[in-house]
Amino acid sequence: PERPALEALQHADVAALLPVPAPESDKYRRGVVGVVAGSARYPGAAVLAVAGALRGGAGAVRYVGPAGDAVVTRFPETLVHAGPPSDAGRVQAWVIGPGLGDGTEARRAMEDVLGSDVPLLVDADGLRLLDRELVRRREAPTVLTPHAGEAAALLGVAREEVEASRLASVRRLAAEFGATVLLKGSTTLVAPAGGKGGRGGDPAVRVNPTGTGWLATAGTGDVLSGVTGSLLAAGLEARDAASAGAYLHGLAGRLAAGREGAPIGASDVASALDAAWRDIRR
Ligand code: AMP
Ligand code: MG
Repeated sequence: PERPALEALQHADVAALLPVPAPESDKYRRGVVGVVAGSARYPGAAVLAVAGALRGGAGAVRYVGPAGDAVVTRFPETLVHAGPPSDAGRVQAWVIGPGLGDGTEARRAMEDVLGSDVPLLVDADGLRLLDRELVRRREAPTVLTPHAGEAAALLGVAREEVEASRLASVRRLAAEFGATVLLKGSTTLVAPAGGKGGRGGDPAVRVNPTGTGWLATAGTGDVLSGVTGSLLAAGLEARDAASAGAYLHGLAGRLAAGREGAPIGASDVASALDAAWRDIRR
């Protein structure tokens, strides 16, 4: 039978994906996620991406960049490193982009992580520094997490065009970059890497049913990149990490906003991730 073009993410499917530490587990087996984010101008983006990463299931978070002081002040459990990602130590998945800017250091860090042989998630400013051919040539999986504007820039079309054809856009990006693509918005779509994992025809795009308009606030995307990267480091496949990340993040937004709804900040979403996790595992 023909596969459907869209699949709604189900609570039970996400529950089965969430990594649970084995009794004999240690932090390295649970996975180390490396976060390359933040700049002198945007230190907060680094803090938010780390906040997400700390609640995404990896055993440790390594922060690489200039905002180490801000990160450690808020989250003393973070390992920090000021040099290039390649000599930061053991990392099982990289997240690069939130608040990164486009300076020399940012470009060098991007080259570094693109050349790594571990899974990589690229968001925000990182998406502006991407070389499509280098992404295509990666052996390890790559996940891109654009919003409509970022997707439009990657495709070289107007934002309205992406908004008018979100399904076609997310598929086209996945095919062109050979990457798993998570297209953010009021409904989030996850397309598996083009040319990989499909059995006969286009593989289905997953639709995330969680989320709330209260998530439309600064910094929530940075939290999403951290949590999703952490799931990658914990060993989930790219498509599953993106799906579970979107689901957890949307549910955390709903829990933070509460039943009646109220304005929330991105920090509140990060703080609600553990409640979302417990809700899914219930
Ligand atoms: P960013 O655009 O990078 O700041 O990320 C914003 C986050 O909030 C993404 O996870 C979006 O999917 C989510 N979001 C933004 N607007 C809405 C909305 N109207 N309804 C649900 N989620 C939203
Ligand atoms: Mg963003």
